[in-house]
Amino acid sequence: MPAASSATDFLVIGAGVAGLRAAIELAPAGRVLVLVKRDVAASSTQFAQGGIAAALSDEDEIGLHLQDTLNAGDGLCNPEAARVLVEDAPGRIEELIAWGTQFDREGTKLTFGREGAHSRNRILHAHGDSTGREIQRALYARAKAIPEIAIHEFEFSTDLVTRDGKVIGVRVMDEHGAQSTIHASAVLLATGGMGQLYLNTTNPAVSTADGVAMAFRAGAEVTDLEFIQFHPTALYLKKAPRFLLSEALRGEGAYLRNMEMLRFMAKYHPMAELAPRDVVARAIMHELERSRAKDPVVYLDMTHLDEAHIRRRFPRIYSTCLQYNVDIASELVPIRPAAHYAMGGVRTDLDGRTTLPGLYAAGEAAGTGVHGANRLASNSLLEGLVFGARAGKKMHDELKAPPQQIADLPPAAYSNGPVSLPADGAVRELQELMWKQVGIVRTGSGLKDAIKRLEEIGAQVSRPHSRREFEARNLQISGLLVARSALAREESRGAHYRTDFPGHDDAKFAKHSIVQSDKIRFQ
Ligand SMILES: Cc1cc2nc3c(=O)[nH]c(=O)nc-3n(C[C@H](O)[C@H](O)[C@H](O)COP(=O)(O)OP(=O)(O)OC[C@H]3O[C@@H](n4cnc5c(N)ncnc54)[C@H](O)[C@@H]3O)c2cc1C
Repeated sequence: MPAASSATDFLVIGAGVAGLRAAIELAPAGRVLVLVKRDVAASSTQFAQGGIAAALSDEDEIGLHLQDTLNAGDGLCNPEAARVLVEDAPGRIEELIAWGTQFDREGTKLTFGREGAHSRNRILHAHGDSTGREIQRALYARAKAIPEIAIHEFEFSTDLVTRDGKVIGVRVMDEHGAQSTIHASAVLLATGGMGQLYLNTTNPAVSTADGVAMAFRAGAEVTDLEFIQFHPTALYLKKAPRFLLSEALRGEGAYLRNMEMLRFMAKYHPMAELAPRDVVARAIMHELERSRAKDPVVYLDMTHLDEAHIRRRFPRIYSTCLQYNVDIASELVPIRPAAHYAMGGVRTDLDGRTTLPGLYAAGEAAGTGVHGANRLASNSLLEGLVFGARAGKKMHDELKAPPQQIADLPPAAYSNGPVSLPADGAVRELQELMWKQVGIVRTGSGLKDAIKRLEEIGAQVSRPHSRREFEARNLQISGLLVARSALAREESRGAHYRTDFPGHDDAKFAKHSIVQSDKIRFQ
């Protein structure tokens, strides 16, 4: 039986900061359909605590924000993308405020916080530590008020549809497993990150690298996938999710202690607890490995700080940890590092165009090169806003060529295949493998072993039926891409660390990795 098919002017996959901002930009040009695989509240944007960076305060300058971004990127930022990010930032934030976003203020003046590696106080936050939620609330309210925008929840995009090398739509599976095809003049991938590749992650369950895997399968180039940022401090309790404990806690003076209750960071870096994220994450891993405990942890200690201030400054972190019976103001908090952010993604230019006509990407799913080898804290919500708006603007042009009307497509051939393996089992094995061998500390031999096993897992997940099986396939494809890119980069840089190549090799690798099909190159 042929699958149902329909058409719209523009398709946006994902309703985090990037997707919603793009949809608002697109609406004056035509009908916009936003597809979300769960409810709108399931996104990384909702979880973003710390804030959003912009050079808006009197003592700040756009040039300083640029310099801090380039420094964090460890020689690999695309300088043009970074310039666009910081230059567009103030305008995009003012627009958000005009649309009702309530950033925290003292009296009438916006308050600017400081985070690691920022040379000025430039981080806007909302309700203390609920910045992403507030931004998404305001963007969603704005989008819902625009008649040209329709937002469909629980519509899972499984594949891109291409014709003659151009992306002309997507395949979609609804809540009940029914598949259909939606055609459009242009498709934007705003599907977020890939944290679910790893056993420990701060990312929500929706972050299964769907955008990268779909684009790669359709023939697009992906870039810089070896650069995964691991956050040093996520809550580590058996029955709790790996809830992020913001860097701002260490900014306020929290200590890290090992299982012998000793502060250890000064051994690893002169800035101790305020060292760069990747240094802190590796130091914690080292302390965990040298501990003889069966299930070792490291502790975040705020017991010497003013309790009332901690509760006031971090209300969401405080109340979330309390749900798991940990009072962060008066007790030691068990933590471990967790996968947090993907610097790379589907390769785009400064206007969100991928290497496939008709296909755009923005936000964490995209690889603009803006973050280089390591992202500066609080630059990623901003990236979604800035590049979401730019992609939306560029997609206007595509309407000149209206959606290609083609005959209904039959359901994807693989949907008739047998279910080969319980998807959850395959995902769990993949997450453990990625954590151990493609994680914070990597070696050439570990990466080769991981690639071999990931290829074997590929055979088990290649015929998906259900949503979970589609996700398993996406994770397997993306995991393999991360591992292949990490093996090819024979140096350490930013968030990518190899014990067999511990230093930089600028002559060979001050370049972006680019993968398409079975080819990998540095450019
Ligand atoms: C715990 C945490 C804290 C963070 N704190 C900060 C911070 O303080 N400051 C900062 O700048 N950044 C922070 N980040 C990073 C930042 O939140 C993300 O990079 C950013 O929100 C990504 O936005 P996005 O729009 O690209 O993706 P997301 O917000 O993740 O949205 C992705 C959307 O795509 C949808 N989707 C995915 N796959 C499919 C599919 N196949 N079909 C249909 N829909 C799909 C999802 O349902 C979702 O709606 C944090 C991240 C986390 C996890």
